[in-house]
Amino acid sequence: MEKLEKLYEGKAKIVFRTSEEGTCWIEYKDDATAFNGEKKGKIAGKGTLNNEISSIFLSLLKEKGVKNHFIKRISSTEQLVRQVEIIPIEVVVRNITAGSLAKRLGWGEGKELPQVLVEFYYKNDELGDPFINNDHIAILGLCSESELGTIRSQALKINEIMKEFLLDKDLILVDFKLEFGKTQGGEIILADEISPDTCRFWDAHTKEKLDKDRFRRDLGNVEGAYQEILKRIGGSVGV
Ligand code: UDP
Repeated sequence: MEKLEKLYEGKAKIVFRTSEEGTCWIEYKDDATAFNGEKKGKIAGKGTLNNEISSIFLSLLKEKGVKNHFIKRISSTEQLVRQVEIIPIEVVVRNITAGSLAKRLGWGEGKELPQVLVEFYYKNDELGDPFINNDHIAILGLCSESELGTIRSQALKINEIMKEFLLDKDLILVDFKLEFGKTQGGEIILADEISPDTCRFWDAHTKEKLDKDRFRRDLGNVEGAYQEILKRIGGSVGV
């Protein structure tokens, strides 16, 4: 298979077309952004770490019956995925208050929610990814009601699988963001990445932050935190 032209370049990844219809080639970058692109930087080794971390999570989910775009990791920073049309909704699942929810509810960080919370944000950089509900999604025509039902139930299933897997590794899954896409056949499947860029992971005992909040909040040792996540979930620490 050959890597062809660039289809899209995002903040953390580049997507290329390939000579095989329906398959894309993704390259993970070291670039990091936060606060809707206002804060920019590089995290040494992030591309390698997130490529492997995301491969492990997406393989786990596939094993547990959650269809997703991951095909295989082909180098330290690259993977092959199924081509999908990304639905422009960022699906955030939360178990514990942090970040924008801590501010929204005025509860501070670290409060366990009485039930799992699923939120939707409109994936639109110009608008700053605003918070939206089911009615906004219908009005904007982002997906159908039944597709949104599938997205919500998949998101909850992913949360259960990941929460249990991570707790066994002494990690708390605080919250995370998912993106879904539509295959050429019209099926909705999980896409994008699952990594410390898109999830909040806290050490179960010390509550130490082991995710992108270390970059967002200038806490230091960002690369070390990503390496720790990879080590705990059984990766080869960037090799
Ligand atoms: N998140 C993400 N991309 C975004 C916004 C949020 O991956 O553009 C993730 C973030 O890492 C966290 C969860 O979604 O795990 C909830 O983030 P929150 O709404 O609290 O926003 P933030 O604190 O990033 O402003």
